[in-house]
Amino acid sequence: MNENTMRGRVTELLRAYPPATTDPAVFHRARFDAGLAWVHFPEGLGGLGISRDLQDVVDTELRSGGAPLNPAGHIGIGLGMAAPTILAFGTAEQQLRYLRPLWLGDEVWCQLFSEPGAGSDLAAVATRAVRDDGGGWVVNGQKVWTSSAHVARFAILLARTDPDVPKHRGLSYFVLDMSAPGVEVRPLRQITGEAEFNEVFLTDVRVPDTARLGEVGDGWKVANATLSSERVAIGGDQADRESGMISKVAQLWREHPGVRSAAVHDRVMERWVAAEVFRLTGARLRQRLATGAPGFEGAAMKVMFADLAQSISLLELELDPDGALQYDDWALVRPASVDFLSRGPGYRYLRAKGNSIEGGTSEVLRNIVAERVLGLPGEARVDKDVPWKKVPR
Ligand SMILES: Cc1cc2nc3c(=O)[nH]c(=O)nc-3n(C[C@H](O)[C@H](O)[C@H](O)COP(=O)(O)OP(=O)(O)OC[C@H]3O[C@@H](n4cnc5c(N)ncnc54)[C@H](O)[C@@H]3O)c2cc1C
Repeated sequence: MNENTMRGRVTELLRAYPPATTDPAVFHRARFDAGLAWVHFPEGLGGLGISRDLQDVVDTELRSGGAPLNPAGHIGIGLGMAAPTILAFGTAEQQLRYLRPLWLGDEVWCQLFSEPGAGSDLAAVATRAVRDDGGGWVVNGQKVWTSSAHVARFAILLARTDPDVPKHRGLSYFVLDMSAPGVEVRPLRQITGEAEFNEVFLTDVRVPDTARLGEVGDGWKVANATLSSERVAIGGDQADRESGMISKVAQLWREHPGVRSAAVHDRVMERWVAAEVFRLTGARLRQRLATGAPGFEGAAMKVMFADLAQSISLLELELDPDGALQYDDWALVRPASVDFLSRGPGYRYLRAKGNSIEGGTSEVLRNIVAERVLGLPGEARVDKDVPWKKVPR
């Protein structure tokens, strides 16, 4: 299939379901069923089984045709982490069951990875999954920082199934039904005032063996597929020039002559250029993904994204110190997604702090770039060959 055929398909969709007069939910369903949701996914699962680079053509044509946007915000974890993992490791039944409602936003997903003692060192997770008599699993443990758990229908869950082998080898990966008995979700309040993430307590939660993704003991391999998709998902979207956080600073600069000085000009320009580099690197990352050779750009992009968000939001505060310090809302709300642009500069500044922690801290991602891209010596790993249960905690 070439670009022209692809454009033809989008035109057909737009003709059959004119965005101006079609309910967005109906449009999304039609788009998924036409294979234009994620074109590299198989036919019948929202795709056409073709090269991923044609997705950009679809997205561009849909945007210029006024199509409604897929509600990506609250389904970011589903789209960016659960879906690629289910595609790579799920059975045909699992793919058929989960992918359509996930993409349509009918079912929200969350990620039950981090624990109080296992964040950067994710392979250290202590949540236990033990076989029950019927061949299923009983799960006990505590997860933390779980974005969207309060609205999630399903979770991707990393749990320890064998404590007698070294940490990376004793893990398995499951899909968890968040409505199962024994799942308790408690809000965790953030520096912004709101609680977009949670603690999740798992007490004798029963998980059928059919909800396993990948082989027993292969959870680390599956989790790594999720993590590399997670880093690509951050910054992997198509974006317009001067969109995102930099748009706010550019707007301030243009509309408020009072903030302008030569020094400020330099700082605005520096960030504007960095934002553009980030955007174009994202485009190149998508091209590399399309050829099936993503490399480790995802890790570098994630570090870049965090640095940029923090430096732009700080500059925005500095340009408008009086306004910015009037924080707009301390109410404990539990949003389903992060919306940087509709809130004030104070919110952007505080929320950007999390960008260098969520999805892997910048320090750890720099380690990944150092070791796997630059080939520098790795960190000493003292627990590599020690059974997990013997590692002091
Ligand atoms: C907004 C937000 C949303 C999140 N959402 C989710 C979610 O939905 N699901 C989920 O499972 N998790 C989520 N997390 C958790 C996140 O992935 C972890 O917080 C992160 O991996 C860091 O782990 P930690 O908090 O245990 O810190 P630690 O691992 O304890 O790290 C503490 C500090 O030590 C540094 N450090 C640790 N190891 C090294 C090393 N080897 N070299 C150099 N420095 C090191 C870290 O970089 C950090 O600065 C979220 C976090 C945030 C902030």
